Amino acid sequence: RISITSKFAGLAVGLLVATGAGVPAMAQTKPTVGISMPTKSSARWIDDGNNMVKYFQEKGYKTDLQYAEDDIPNQLAQIENMVTKNEKVLVIAAIDGTTLTDVLQKAAEQGVKVIAYDRLIRGSANVDYYATFDNFQVGVLQASYIEKALGLKEGKGPFNIELFGGSPDDNNAYFFYNGAMSVLQPYIDSGKLKVGSGQVGMDKVSTLRWDGAVAQARMDNLLSAYYGNKRVDAVLSPYDGLSIGIISSLKGVGYGSASQPMPVVTGQDAEVQSVKSILAGEQRSTVFKDTRELAKVTVGMVDDLLAGRTPQVNDTKTYDNGKKVVPSYLLKPVLVDSSNWKQVLVDGGYYKESQIK
Ligand code: BGC
Repeated sequence: RISITSKFAGLAVGLLVATGAGVPAMAQTKPTVGISMPTKSSARWIDDGNNMVKYFQEKGYKTDLQYAEDDIPNQLAQIENMVTKNEKVLVIAAIDGTTLTDVLQKAAEQGVKVIAYDRLIRGSANVDYYATFDNFQVGVLQASYIEKALGLKEGKGPFNIELFGGSPDDNNAYFFYNGAMSVLQPYIDSGKLKVGSGQVGMDKVSTLRWDGAVAQARMDNLLSAYYGNKRVDAVLSPYDGLSIGIISSLKGVGYGSASQPMPVVTGQDAEVQSVKSILAGEQRSTVFKDTRELAKVTVGMVDDLLAGRTPQVNDTKTYDNGKKVVPSYLLKPVLVDSSNWKQVLVDGGYYKESQIK
């Protein structure tokens, strides 16, 4: 009899929560989590948002998921609104990691917990934890792919390369670039890799807001200014959306034929269009970051924080945001190319084969 009664009580509370009407205080133990994502223009952020909503709901949280369409004032307004609505936890993937100081100060004064999601929030002490991937390693994977595809370790070369960086207001972009250069720089120094344009360094190669059209326009300029009578053999691209633009530009001047093969172009995020491009022999590799895992880590962090437990981290020294070193959990990125896409992406349940083929 006791168990029937308590089951019924649980059901009643569940129903009240589900309808949202007249919720008694005891059913409201878990607060609403505000989730602020940068943009829907790239599929990964849509997956990130959906995965988090799913896992938070499984743990009994409500969520308020907002996308800011890469507009900084828009993201600020959305986060301010979350604070005003008294949401007790914020999970934020910032558009510009330096613009949130004031709103996070306000949040801290209300006791709001803040998790930086994927991208570090800079210039604020009011960031509790950071959940991300090993961003330096992403760049290492991209550049190691170029190293292998060109046979640089075997002493082949010299080859011509061009470098692209991510958005200069995204802390990750520097980690990707530095990781890649840790592999490429020795070959540039020895002359086995030649940057045809001479454009090296994030101040020269970054791509504001990760915009594929900007990358395409820059590649057009590079090809016409520096590659009139020589070929480009590799392009370091930090993100699939840029790779697509770079490849269109290359195709525009005749790359991608038997007599003029595509250079080795890298990428990141394993977006459907780029996996298709890899199968078509255009883009050569991408870096898969399992957004399901990142969402799980984040939800676990929030749950621990609210229960008074210390969230598990595996890095306490890398991510100095200018005000503090933010305790971080770094997941492992995985290189994907034509040899392992099926095993990693399809067998791993991230995509259905029919989405790719
Ligand atoms: C993310 C990458 C993504 C890029 C563009 C970065 O902050 O870490 O996964 O490719 O933003 O959206």
